[in-house]
Amino acid sequence: MPFTYPHFGSLTYVFEILLTELGRTDIMLPKEPSRKTSELGSRYSPEFVCTPFKLTLGTFIEMLELGADQLGIGGGNMYCRFGLYWPVQRLILEDLGYDFEFYPIPIFDKPLNLVKSLQAVGNNCTVWETIKAFRTTWIKTRYIELVDELHFKYRALELEPNQADRLVKKLHREIVEIKGLGNLRRLGKQIPEKFENTIEIDKEKRKNAIRIGVCGEIYVALEPVLNLDVHRKLNDLGVITTNCVSFGMLIDFGRKINPFIRLPYQKARKAAKPYIGQRCGGETQENIGDIILYKKKNWDGLVHLYPFTCMPEIITRSIAPEVSKKYDMPFLSLVIDEHTGETGYLTRLEAFVDLLRRKKEKMIG
Ligand code: SF4
Repeated sequence: MPFTYPHFGSLTYVFEILLTELGRTDIMLPKEPSRKTSELGSRYSPEFVCTPFKLTLGTFIEMLELGADQLGIGGGNMYCRFGLYWPVQRLILEDLGYDFEFYPIPIFDKPLNLVKSLQAVGNNCTVWETIKAFRTTWIKTRYIELVDELHFKYRALELEPNQADRLVKKLHREIVEIKGLGNLRRLGKQIPEKFENTIEIDKEKRKNAIRIGVCGEIYVALEPVLNLDVHRKLNDLGVITTNCVSFGMLIDFGRKINPFIRLPYQKARKAAKPYIGQRCGGETQENIGDIILYKKKNWDGLVHLYPFTCMPEIITRSIAPEVSKKYDMPFLSLVIDEHTGETGYLTRLEAFVDLLRRKKEKMIG
């Protein structure tokens, strides 16, 4: 009974880890989405549904064709369409004649419901084994996100091209495969050193490098196929980037229940309150809060990505100009869908980086 799930940038590893820890040995890793995936998804989706729906549906069709018959995806009560992805996708796939089972994982539901849904996915795991599997997953996710953060810094500054890419590929695999919490924590501590010792960087470039945060709707912000590899494009321009959005923090119960830790997304939601008092789905509150917080941390600007017809992120787009002006924090909003052209997209990123460079030079004097 091969089990598969949507491709999701480096988080694809996170789901592989979770399933392995739950004892599944029949995981079918999702294919990286291609033009065909996007065409398949668009052909069978409602016309105005958001782009991640289409891309994940396209992935499911391709994987069912390859032999998968169990599908996993996030679910549960959400503020936007996301919670309805799987019931609608199930109807579409059934209409297409596929025979399969859907396993929605209610990531933001009550912990007990989450454990029950993971038990259903797992290989007869007990409650304790399921909790342990989830704990290992969130710890490994911390390290995967740390690797990504360093990747986007070192790739912008490396002297020899592709060194960072090669190291990251190796480290991601090491994190997925390592066994034992002790070994895992040791590996986690070594990650910054491994970057430092392996990659030679251009120290001149580092002095005046522009730093940009990438925020927006979580799927488009974290899936390079959909965001046309925004980090690589910016890193190639010598810009250090970071993901403002983190999936790991949302599942990191170890930190979430620690009263002494306030996670970045919690700080961002608080900072956004004067402008948007309630959560309304997507990452709207976090994006608005990040304009303020990244300015305070002296970052140079934010690139905001959102899928075509995404309701919550349209709200971000309407509030952001006021906040960006008030805090003097440049903010570039780009809408993405399956028709987004690479050349126009790159031109807008280049123009934004030029603007930030000129601004920085003016400030330095
Ligand atoms: S946040 Fe936007 S793109 Fe994501 S599921 Fe909700 S409506 Fe769709």
